[in-house]
Amino acid sequence: GKDPGPLSGIPVALKDNMLYKDTPMTCASRMLENYISPYTAEVVSRLEEAGALIVAKTNMDEFAMGSSGETSYFGPTKNPRDPERIPGGSSSGSAAAVADGEVMAALGTDTGGSVRQPAAMCGTVGIKPTYGLVSRRGVAAFASSMDQVGAIAPSVEDTALVLQVIAGHDPGDSTSLKVEIPDYTEGLEGGVEGLTVGLPGDWIEKGLEPGIREKIEGAAVALEEAGARIERISLPLMEYGVASYYIAATAEASANLARFDGIRYGLSSVKAGNLRETYSFSRSEGFGPEVKRRIMLGTYALSSGYYDAYYIKAQKVRAMISADIKKAFEKVDLIISPAAPFEPFRLGEKIQDPLQMYLIDMYTIPCNLSGIPGITVPLVPPGKGLPVSVQFMGPLLSEKLLFRAARSIERAYEE
Ligand code: GLN
Repeated sequence: GKDPGPLSGIPVALKDNMLYKDTPMTCASRMLENYISPYTAEVVSRLEEAGALIVAKTNMDEFAMGSSGETSYFGPTKNPRDPERIPGGSSSGSAAAVADGEVMAALGTDTGGSVRQPAAMCGTVGIKPTYGLVSRRGVAAFASSMDQVGAIAPSVEDTALVLQVIAGHDPGDSTSLKVEIPDYTEGLEGGVEGLTVGLPGDWIEKGLEPGIREKIEGAAVALEEAGARIERISLPLMEYGVASYYIAATAEASANLARFDGIRYGLSSVKAGNLRETYSFSRSEGFGPEVKRRIMLGTYALSSGYYDAYYIKAQKVRAMISADIKKAFEKVDLIISPAAPFEPFRLGEKIQDPLQMYLIDMYTIPCNLSGIPGITVPLVPPGKGLPVSVQFMGPLLSEKLLFRAARSIERAYEE
């Protein structure tokens, strides 16, 4: 006689940067190898109240810094669609576990693309909600002005069900929005008839593999056949997104990660003989190369003399990009783009080239810079080639519309 909840009995996995009381939370870092969660993150409590079974923590890029699932201290995650290839990152294990059928849904975090991009590379659905829609209490911070928890699931409907459970105000998170949460699955089959969808021609001309461009143009045709109007738009500032993000995100990361000082949390070097050595040795031993690179870059961008030239400039560019996107939504209801500029590449192929790696998120970063939601939907079914996804971006709090449009594409590509 008791309602068991909308996710009753559903096995769910969590990216290992979310607290689950009395169990480890490593952030895939040596720094937190032996760290035990003192409480449970709000999102996880909500999943459990809805009846979900938390069955696993998943591998990730160290502290969510990476785009390929290869920077984890515990070793890389493989792509279930082709184990020689990357699964995308940083929520690599969450996307791989869903794609492989090990769980029916997983949570990830998305600061620059880390839910949508691995979901796309593994052939699953992934959503990054509006900044502030989902609580971050109990989720390890990377870049606090952009971090957002998102959901990964095999279908649009399942993704909507999970977001329904985790979205909504939390007084324990100062950035949490006080908004009504609509019923995301209601009207899901409503289609795209009458919607205007923007296709940013200039943005998808640059740096995109031709095969992917064809698939995105194909998705635009499918939307048109389903009754949407496709409008070619121009978003000329998008190409500065990656540069702006990698200053803003690293600056915030350098501040957030200052708490790992060898005293309060995590690894404390046994070789240290005094306070200065405790800081320096613990951080040298605890963090991997990508995390160190970010801390150094971010510290540099925030240091006096460079603050105006880099940090402030990046913030200005961020504001311009947000304004550009906002303006586009005066003309169109939604914008489509690729999820990533390339197909999943081979493990090890780009790990020595951080700039190439940073470019993987060129299509997902603008949502984080401007706070708007984005969802990625697979266009290539298993057995028909490497996964490629289309991304839908919508105005702030347009999740319901995004799910409906995403479902329309999913339906068009069902065999
Ligand atoms: N790949 C991007 C980065 O490395 C985004 C990561 C994320 O969204 N957490 O910063």
